[in-house]
Amino acid sequence: MIVVMKPGAGPEHIQHVVDLVHEFGLEDHVIYGTDRTVIACLGDKRMLEKDAIENAPMVEKVVPILAPYKMASLEVKREKTTIAIGPQQFPIGGVKVGVIAGPCAVESRQQVLDTAEAIKAAGAIGLRGGAFKPRTSPYAFQGMGKAGLDLLAEAREKTGLAIVTEVIGTEQVALCANYADVLQIGARNMQHYPLLEAVGRVNKPVLLKRGMSASLDEFLLAAEYIIHAGNPNVILCERGIRTFESYVRNTLPLAAIPALRERTHLPIVIDPSHGTGHAHMVPAMSLAAVAAGADGVILECHPDPEHAASDGAQSITPQTFSNLMDRLRRVAQAVDRDL
Ligand code: PEP
Ligand code: MN
Repeated sequence: MIVVMKPGAGPEHIQHVVDLVHEFGLEDHVIYGTDRTVIACLGDKRMLEKDAIENAPMVEKVVPILAPYKMASLEVKREKTTIAIGPQQFPIGGVKVGVIAGPCAVESRQQVLDTAEAIKAAGAIGLRGGAFKPRTSPYAFQGMGKAGLDLLAEAREKTGLAIVTEVIGTEQVALCANYADVLQIGARNMQHYPLLEAVGRVNKPVLLKRGMSASLDEFLLAAEYIIHAGNPNVILCERGIRTFESYVRNTLPLAAIPALRERTHLPIVIDPSHGTGHAHMVPAMSLAAVAAGADGVILECHPDPEHAASDGAQSITPQTFSNLMDRLRRVAQAVDRDL
């Protein structure tokens, strides 16, 4: 259940409720909103002591939770969460739509720096690029590892872009957190619970990709793991799901945007590259994502897609990216957003 405090409730009132919550054998998670503070009560005895807590000073109401996730839920926090990323603290989740672009994998200094300069000039706020790649085949390019992270850091230094990079194992969390501004959890790892807990213990925003066969409830419960471990800064990323269709690599369900909006306060970002698998579909789906209310788009952009070490077929060129940004700006304006 959730205890909603009245506006103006002080630290002593909040502490009193927290003490009651502990007395009833539940865990507390205090969320400070702009208007009021709410206290999520975590544990199995959810409905038991509702009346007692309702009587405590400065408590407005006690609401039973219906969703299986709590801290990720709109029932706990009504206002949208805004997460500031990178050296320039670009906000994701506010009025501005944030665009993140870059290669699937970091391949060379020239590739990363050229891409970074080009997308920055076109108005991107973040540079994506995997240094550790989760590949289907053990014989495929596995990424440059730490050398790739160094190149991403150099690109951040030169451009001010926020660095988004994937962490594929718990043993790399500390290293990646040292370099990245946003830690990406890939679709294949959405239910890697020890990894979710490990990124939940670091002080860096997390971009959580939806598993290719995960329901929205499972997606939000994965976000809940990260928040429960102590990190409230989770950005949800829809990247397409497996269906019977073969004209796309994955089917990109843009209806996930309004569906998630109804359930969660967390920012929602769309990945039209993995969501389609084809570069020529990426601009249309990016525009549609912003029109449907996405807080951001993350897409693959490569200076030479034909020679990309991974995901070349779905990577757009910097020139296409620049044209797309001009059109995205107009769509953003049409839906009362900014870019
Ligand atoms: C990626 O972003 O390059 C990637 C591997 O994505 P996903 O986990 O969505 O497949
Ligand atoms: Mn990729």
